[in-house]
Amino acid sequence: MRKAGIRLSNTLVADLLFKAKVFGLILSRDTEKALELLSQRYGVAKPKLMVGMPKRHSKKLACYVAKKRTIHVSHREILHNPRIILHEFYHHLRNVTDAQRGIEKYADKFAENYSQAYRIVSARRDFNE
Ligand SMILES: [Zn+2]
Repeated sequence: MRKAGIRLSNTLVADLLFKAKVFGLILSRDTEKALELLSQRYGVAKPKLMVGMPKRHSKKLACYVAKKRTIHVSHREILHNPRIILHEFYHHLRNVTDAQRGIEKYADKFAENYSQAYRIVSARRDFNE
């Protein structure tokens, strides 16, 4: 029998599960796989990942260098921070699809959306059954 509660459409569930999976992959240190899935989904080339910041961004935790299609992180631990990785992936996505960096606020929203999906899916075990 179905559990009581809001019934979600299959498309919405698939979307939530995808986002939760990507978020979880980054948390569990499989950031390369997460970037592969993201790039497939949005139909873009996978960005490169690099530990170490370019000089003019040395004070940031992470940044995206459009010319090299590379996400730079300042420390290894940041490779496993989904919010930061997803934020930088958004810049990659915007750069590849319409040659813009995109607005910071939207990059944060993009990451937040994945984070919410992860929280929802984690809280509802019936999604995983
Ligand atoms: Zn940014």
